[in-house]
Amino acid sequence: MRVRLSKTSPVDFCLFERRVRLWLIRLGLTDWCIQFRHSKKKTDYRALVSYDTKEREAVFTLSVCWGTSTISHGEINLVALHEVLHLLLADLTDLLPSNKKSIVLEHATMRRLEYALLGRQ
Ligand SMILES: [Zn+2]
Repeated sequence: MRVRLSKTSPVDFCLFERRVRLWLIRLGLTDWCIQFRHSKKKTDYRALVSYDTKEREAVFTLSVCWGTSTISHGEINLVALHEVLHLLLADLTDLLPSNKKSIVLEHATMRRLEYALLGRQ
């Protein structure tokens, strides 16, 4: 059986950008200089954010290749929020050692915020 791989479109990228901007405003992260990229590189990530906390610069990247993940407005909103939450915690995580435990704790906190902000159980 052939596996069908999902790819995000320019329309999906526009939605991602709009949702990131919305979450940045809702969470008061308006002091950042933001850029967006729609990457064709093969990665394990559906989206990612890279940032420089001192320069207050961040780049949000949406991957074209989503592997076998389903693409929907809800999923794009979720990945947009997820990456914005990384930025929300950026100043704090910069103080932590870069190890697996810190990453797990960061994501556990983000998961709780995602549930709260998206009204999920
Ligand atoms: Zn993450």
